[in-house]
Amino acid sequence: MKKPDYALLLHGGAGPTPGRDYSEVEAHLGFLVREGEKMLRGGAQAVDTVEAMVRELELSGLYVAGRGSAPNTEGYVELDASIMDGNSGLAGSVAAVRDIESPVTAARAVMDNTPHVMLVGAGANHFCEQQGIALVANPADWYRLPVGVEIADFDDEEGGHGTVGAVALDCSGNLASATSTGGLFGKLPGRVGDTPLIGSGTWADQHVAVSCTGIGECFIRANVAHSIAMQVRLGISTLEEAAANCLEEVAYMGGDGGLIAIDREGNICLPWNSDGMKRASVVAGQPPEVHVFGQPSKGV
Ligand code: ASP
Repeated sequence: MKKPDYALLLHGGAGPTPGRDYSEVEAHLGFLVREGEKMLRGGAQAVDTVEAMVRELELSGLYVAGRGSAPNTEGYVELDASIMDGNSGLAGSVAAVRDIESPVTAARAVMDNTPHVMLVGAGANHFCEQQGIALVANPADWYRLPVGVEIADFDDEEGGHGTVGAVALDCSGNLASATSTGGLFGKLPGRVGDTPLIGSGTWADQHVAVSCTGIGECFIRANVAHSIAMQVRLGISTLEEAAANCLEEVAYMGGDGGLIAIDREGNICLPWNSDGMKRASVVAGQPPEVHVFGQPSKGV
């Protein structure tokens, strides 16, 4: 296969419930992946593209991230997000932040404007204020129920969850990844999942970019995103095999979820082992695809 000039994958979480209507999500993902394609075709960098995509996913309120996030056991929303630029190897993340309109924008500011990788809690919120990052003025009006989620889901013992993410290969051959979440429904205050952890929920280097979604505790213990990149880099597995190996480990630990991954040759994979994963992809020269359910990838 000839290496494509660019490619972009999006996910809106691996927690959809069979039988519910996700047509609004499908339309949004379809619109967004075309917008992202325009950016990449116009020469945008992968890191700027994934940030823009995740920001739009957060602000839409259609997914369990940003505006669509659910409250924790104390009744308030805590948000996690991260971004990694495969070209520079730099990364930024925020965890357990409150009432930030776009947590991925905050993660990008950590990457660009501090010597650190990760800021959490009150310190991260203080940093956002100093940086002029948009805050939620009135939380009661801002947060909304994402598509496919019902109030009763908050009491479900299995626990609802969701996340958004993007990975991209740009026309200069660089890769990047970004991920953002409101986490698990009914989580404890201060609980942090895989999403803001570089190497667990998000990874990008000069070979591979990965963004994960699912039960974060299992993705952390399997260190999924970096493990995939390492297997590919060492030539142990293809991208698809590496992703399948890691999801198998997540399942072995009792978790489920999915991921989107891309390598520098433009190979892509979007596997999951839950009921489905909201996802969209576009590879240069091919029409975009959008799916919520359907067959998981081979080997998963
Ligand atoms: N991974 C996220 C977390 O554990 C949730 C999800 O992706 O559905 O916070």
